[in-house]
Amino acid sequence: MKNPESDNWNIKIQLGNWVGAVTVPKARFPEAKAAHQAVLDTAWNWVEREDELEADPSDLDPCVECGESTAPGFGRWVNRLPFADGFKCIECLGSVFECDRCGEDIPFDEDIVEVTVDPEGYQTEWRVCDGCVTIQVPTTKPRTWAQVQADPRVGSTSDPDDGDEGYWVYLVPSFYSPTMDCRTIHEDTVRAVIDELVKVERCDPDERF
Ligand SMILES: [Zn+2]
Ligand SMILES: [Zn+2]
Repeated sequence: MKNPESDNWNIKIQLGNWVGAVTVPKARFPEAKAAHQAVLDTAWNWVEREDELEADPSDLDPCVECGESTAPGFGRWVNRLPFADGFKCIECLGSVFECDRCGEDIPFDEDIVEVTVDPEGYQTEWRVCDGCVTIQVPTTKPRTWAQVQADPRVGSTSDPDDGDEGYWVYLVPSFYSPTMDCRTIHEDTVRAVIDELVKVERCDPDERF
């Protein structure tokens, strides 16, 4: 049986803290010295490339405050905002928006977007803090169709009196029905409408269903 050792150079090298052995076929480098040099050159190339790769992330769009990368694909990319000549990460921003009503900073991810409609039908979009929300979720469950129609989450309705089949509820843009996965509730009875209305949740007014 052929001894594999005899076909290869087994070269031990040390680079900084890294110690390893590399097997080089004698067929490629008949001279031990040349084999050793080839291994060293390859290894140093590899070390330099590693340095480049390690250096890269923080060089890419560093946060102007903490220096962490805010480049796409790196940890602080999400929610970075342009700042001075660069970007600031969400950690250093602390909050992303000011409340449109009270001007206070809104803690990250706690902004609520509301759309109000004035008597002329013009819509205004508000990004507000928890305390400035005007469309409050009623604390009591509606019991009658009139109460459903008066609910602040309800934009408009139609019912059998309008010649429609069943009861229709069109929610304001900042609410949607998770059951229906849209802003419309359509049921045969008022009771069924109410059962769905109590389950509606806030959503982004721009969200299309
Ligand atoms: Zn930062
Ligand atoms: Zn506010």
